Amino acid sequence: MTSNLMDIEEKIAAAAEHCGRVPKDITLVAVSKVHIAETILPVLESGQRVFGENRVQEATQKWPALKNRFDNVKLHLIGPLQTNKARQAVHLFDVIETVDRPKLAKMLARIFEEEAKKCDIYIQINTGHEKQKAGILPESADKFITLCRDDLKLPVKGVMCIPPFDEDSTQHFKLLKEIADRNNIKNLSMGMSGDFEKAIKNGATHVRVGTAIFGTRPGY
Ligand SMILES: *Cc1c(COP(=O)(O)O)cnc(C)c1O
Repeated sequence: MTSNLMDIEEKIAAAAEHCGRVPKDITLVAVSKVHIAETILPVLESGQRVFGENRVQEATQKWPALKNRFDNVKLHLIGPLQTNKARQAVHLFDVIETVDRPKLAKMLARIFEEEAKKCDIYIQINTGHEKQKAGILPESADKFITLCRDDLKLPVKGVMCIPPFDEDSTQHFKLLKEIADRNNIKNLSMGMSGDFEKAIKNGATHVRVGTAIFGTRPGY
């Protein structure tokens, strides 16, 4: 696993340099969903500090103990968030990448006011217009970003997308970058095990890599 991690780090650096970018401008989010603490441990021990989880419940069981053992761990929520789990998510996560509807945005704004803690917010965009997939539609993104940032005062720091599995992701990465640029949003979370190098070429600042680090997920 740790050799996988080094391999991915090298590939990220090479992809960045290949297109004239600085490797440190790209953050590897190691997606540890489904994997148990014993599997995550060696990756933490080799210095990785940013991790992605897709379920609040699962992350709440695994991560507090790991966070006690390692400093500066940053957790990104990359799965859909139900409003009734939002407060729990705010407590545990540093970044919520999947804000995609007014109801959730308003709930987060309320929680941030009530709690001492805030997390960074990314807006999830459904670039492929997939019915079953979460995310705000591209044509509604500007208006939703304005609602989150200007009306609700949420710390909108990024956008994220999960392209359709059966399509070339390039057009989706380009669309996400357009939305980010015209809204003055700095961070782009895009690219997974199969296409993170392509995502870096198209401007990704955060790549979410699971399988290529931890191996195939049990039960998938
Ligand atoms: C699981 C997951 C990933 C990681 O996918 P891999 O193909 O295993 O690298 C990235 N992003 C999201 C939103 C995920 O749910």
